[in-house]
Amino acid sequence: MSLEHLWAGWRREYIVAATERERAGVRADDPAGCVFCRLAASGEPSEDNLVVWRGEQVFVVMNAYPYASGHVLVMPLRHVSSLAALSEGESAQLWAATKQAVATIEAAYDPDGLNVGGNLGRAAGAGLPGHVHLHVVPRWSGDTNFMTSVAETRVLPETLALSWKKLTDAWPR
Ligand SMILES: [Zn+2]
Repeated sequence: MSLEHLWAGWRREYIVAATERERAGVRADDPAGCVFCRLAASGEPSEDNLVVWRGEQVFVVMNAYPYASGHVLVMPLRHVSSLAALSEGESAQLWAATKQAVATIEAAYDPDGLNVGGNLGRAAGAGLPGHVHLHVVPRWSGDTNFMTSVAETRVLPETLALSWKKLTDAWPR
């Protein structure tokens, strides 16, 4: 699978979110309509909100539209649209949480590799540019079978709830 295909797969998440938002008549720059802000305000990590870890300024949550089992999003609790707008504290915690997400996914899934990245701005494919976030996705050699890129149909071997439990159990407390 090419990186281009992978990122196209990630964009599906934004398309779905943007469609839901437009249906609700909410402006993209309005935090009140932001699905990530709703998650940020959803309290302690649980199987219901699928938050894996919540820090003072940053949290980690299962991607509702995973590209592979174990695919998480790392983002500030605050509704911030760019990396440049992050405070020093948010920047430090975002990176620390990203590193921990990589280590936790490695411990829980033993992947052959991982993708870490973000779509910053609409031109880069972000449909939810208002709330900056990074993706961490485990990859396996020959994992092209996880998805038919044309049909955007993904066959995942486990539920989000099970992925959440594996990562929550493996995340250091
Ligand atoms: Zn937000």
